[in-house]
Amino acid sequence: MNLKHSMERWTIEDSADLYQIREWGAGYFGISEKGDVVVTPLRDKSVSVSLPEIISGIVARGYDMPMLLRFEDILDSQITQLHESFRSAIARFDYKGQYKGVYPIKVNQQKQVIETITRIGKFYHHGLEAGSKAELIAALTFLEDKEACLVCNGYKDREFIDLGLFACKMGFKCFFVLEMPGELDLILERSKALGIKPLLGVRFKLSTQAGGHWTESGGDRSIFGLTISQVIETIEKLKEAGMLDCLQLLHYHLGSQIPNIRDIRASIQEACRVYAGLVLEGAAMGYFDLGGGLAVDYDGSHTNYMNSRNYTLDEYCADMIEAIMEILSEYNIAHPTIITESGRATVAYYSVLLFNIFDTSSIDTDSVPEELPENTPEIILNMLEVLKSLNVRNLQECYNDALYYRDEIRQMFKIGDLTMRQRALGDKIFWKIIQALSEGVKDLKFVPKDLMDIETALCDTYYANFSVFQSLPDSWAIGHLFPVMPVHRLAEKPERNAILADITCDCDGKIDRFIDKQGMRRALKLHTIREDEEYYLGVFLVGAYQETLGDLHNLLGDTNVVSIRVHEDGNYSFVREIEGDSVADVLSYVEYDPKDMTKQFRATAEQAVRENLITPRERREIMNMYEEGLRGYPYFEPYRS
Ligand code: PLP
Repeated sequence: MNLKHSMERWTIEDSADLYQIREWGAGYFGISEKGDVVVTPLRDKSVSVSLPEIISGIVARGYDMPMLLRFEDILDSQITQLHESFRSAIARFDYKGQYKGVYPIKVNQQKQVIETITRIGKFYHHGLEAGSKAELIAALTFLEDKEACLVCNGYKDREFIDLGLFACKMGFKCFFVLEMPGELDLILERSKALGIKPLLGVRFKLSTQAGGHWTESGGDRSIFGLTISQVIETIEKLKEAGMLDCLQLLHYHLGSQIPNIRDIRASIQEACRVYAGLVLEGAAMGYFDLGGGLAVDYDGSHTNYMNSRNYTLDEYCADMIEAIMEILSEYNIAHPTIITESGRATVAYYSVLLFNIFDTSSIDTDSVPEELPENTPEIILNMLEVLKSLNVRNLQECYNDALYYRDEIRQMFKIGDLTMRQRALGDKIFWKIIQALSEGVKDLKFVPKDLMDIETALCDTYYANFSVFQSLPDSWAIGHLFPVMPVHRLAEKPERNAILADITCDCDGKIDRFIDKQGMRRALKLHTIREDEEYYLGVFLVGAYQETLGDLHNLLGDTNVVSIRVHEDGNYSFVREIEGDSVADVLSYVEYDPKDMTKQFRATAEQAVRENLITPRERREIMNMYEEGLRGYPYFEPYRS
């Protein structure tokens, strides 16, 4: 062990390094002198608010954990940064077109998000992307700015098309993007019937494919978009109908969370050739929609790992503009209005999931008895011998022996050759050996591969009051890594290694992979929890995709949500409070009727009275509990006497 380091006092700098908050926090999240996580959402970086203070304010108002905090000012800042970066790249390269962003509603459909984005986005004519009828209806309700674009992706039926055509008539810049060739016939038919000319776009199926989790949406085999031959057929059809002037937009989407800028550049080159081809074919064009994909640096590594990105926003914008200009200049084509459909990068930073730890469990390494019982079987004595003989020179050998004896002990227990107590004794000695090994490797210059992660084998389980399935579906479904850390006590050294188990009691309901500069670590450093003091953790950057993808596994519903607006003077207001689902709410989502249930349970209780199992007074108490339970929060509620 590095003695010097262990003697030094732990500071907030150490915590900042450990949890890499500066790297992934994008200037929005940091640590105060006191050791609290603070949020700095405004341009004035001297204004910050403390998460533990916000938590105590909210808890005092009667809300329980888990809780989702949303910072509206962060949305404002993200949209502003996106537009300012494009503005400066446009000015730097003397690009003659404009930039207009659209927010893809599917990334976070919450009304508050759409309301805030359309309100803040007005200044930059930031529009919306709708992928379904419901999203189009939401977009038409909130998008008042007629200079902003409204891009309709997804498959469109007659109702969708009629609504979009009337939106065009009302002055909305509402583009139908053709996702498949058959859509055009219906659009032309409805356009003729209603006498409204559509604004059309085509989604092109790129052959370029990128690395990352969500890249199936790009490449030849992607299920969306038109092939090059289908694009040509579309042109022919439009020519025939005398409506080639309606075709004004080319769209492609390489996939979400594209970590490598080289993939982004390669895709633009291919798409630019198609754009030029469409202009040469006589289409009106003018809009070039580069889709989503702008990644979020979740692990702060600034690399092309899946959870990161190897470029800055400025580089992204500059590369796009430069690549478009370079290729279109070959054709002498006017610079189009560039649209991007950045969802993840717009909303990820805006929400923080907070929860408390309600229990912990650790592996017992302290209770190997001094003296073993007289009749201790030889296999266990052998295991003890491994422990006694362990030293820095034989760590690997002891590890191998310990594993061998542990497996033998398990086998002997299975066939009845060892008692339960004997097996428990064997387990205790085994874990004592693992603990000694994890101490031993700290003195090694070169750690054998098998022993590299030995510390994490001993890690504690921290039971956390939230549901992975409800609040972090991507963590469960695709192993996506989000930054997780305590939101207080950061001036104290976190001594424990832990994984997090959620309250669903499902073996997948856990977080056991965490961000790390080198890719990923199997345990998170946490503090020992203190009696009578809550320990709060935050999962950060959860604003994109997590809120509405979550499901009702174990009937744990939506969490409480509180939105915060930070003022220039450092004060903040709770601008919106949305109570999470009650038990009755989540039951009704899966077709139970809480009223019927109460009636049914009352009958069961009455039967118990008749059978003298409970008294009538007890029936009243049980019914009160039952009804209170229905009204309550489905998550772990603190005991209030
Ligand atoms: N546009 C389309 C067509 C999409 O399918 C998606 C999501 O995958 C997006 C935009 C948003 O992408 P991102 O969140 O990476 O910005």
